Amino acid sequence: MLRKNELLEIREILLQMKKDILKTLGERIKSNDITAQREIGDIFDDADLEQTREFNLLLGTRERQKLEQIESALLRMEKGEYGFCEDCGENIPVGRLKAMPFATLCVKCKSERESVEGPAILYVEEKG
Ligand SMILES: [Zn+2]
Repeated sequence: MLRKNELLEIREILLQMKKDILKTLGERIKSNDITAQREIGDIFDDADLEQTREFNLLLGTRERQKLEQIESALLRMEKGEYGFCEDCGENIPVGRLKAMPFATLCVKCKSERESVEGPAILYVEEKG
């Protein structure tokens, strides 16, 4: 189980990652001058930033996915579900979380999933 200060530390890492993505986005908006009628500052103040058209236009798929993972990790923190492996329910080691704050699997389950052949993961229906 993560200690509160560890959780806060990881939360900071996540928020910083999010900030970095938004900063890149802001610079991209600036250089593309798409929002000529809008100040960059207004965009950063916008709580619904993710919903804005500019955002979806300028953010690459990979960045958007990363942002979603960050958001989802922050949400799990709020619910008190953060730091547990999705597959086996074990605690994910804090060192792994610090390196990969949006990890949802422990190393063991991650490598098991990766060893499953093909990109499509086959879900075996469990009875009982
Ligand atoms: Zn696991």
